[in-house]
Amino acid sequence: MTGLPRLVVASANPDKVAEIALVLDGLVDLEPRPPQVPDVVEDGDTLEANARLKAVAICVATGRAAVADDTGLEVDALGGAPGVHSARYAGEECDAGANTARLLAELAGVPAGRRTARFRTVALVRRPDGTEVQATGTVEGHIAAGPSGGGGFGYDPVFVPVEGDGRTFAEMGDEKHAVSHRGRAFRDLARRLAAET
Ligand code: IMP
Repeated sequence: MTGLPRLVVASANPDKVAEIALVLDGLVDLEPRPPQVPDVVEDGDTLEANARLKAVAICVATGRAAVADDTGLEVDALGGAPGVHSARYAGEECDAGANTARLLAELAGVPAGRRTARFRTVALVRRPDGTEVQATGTVEGHIAAGPSGGGGFGYDPVFVPVEGDGRTFAEMGDEKHAVSHRGRAFRDLARRLAAET
């Protein structure tokens, strides 16, 4: 027994799971998601609703406390889009390259000073007794003129955080986690879980 909170991770995305494991190392005991549990349809209207859908599905399937997160990229010049629709911005069957290409196309002609954006993550724990703990993390930044860097995932090649030296998240390697939306959300979540015990 470690005494750490024990949580099943709802995400099936290996990039995300690796980031969460790094941030929560030593704070929470993480277990992988059982492979047989089908994906849930993320059709909530908010990041919180989608995080809850994912956490509840894994909690019900395993009978254990589960943790899920949902992330959106909010671009000011696009009225906050893609936001909760970030995963399917370029269509149902799209990938990260297509989403990023659409984002850059929508921002064509928008000058550097008006390309401000933020990532927002909601992290949520759901327990079998129905209780929840949740936390939010954000990082401010801007959308670059074009993609740079081979690390990270999703929109990382075009997102430049304010708290940095001009590199995109995809160029920052593990330095990303110190300032990222997911790093902040999960560190806050770990603090909240620790405060309950
Ligand atoms: P979800 O939280 O997995 O539903 O992610 C929503 C969308 O945001 C997907 O297109 C992800 O690829 C993207 N995304 C989530 N987290 C990050 C991140 O840390 N960097 C870049 N893109 C991300």
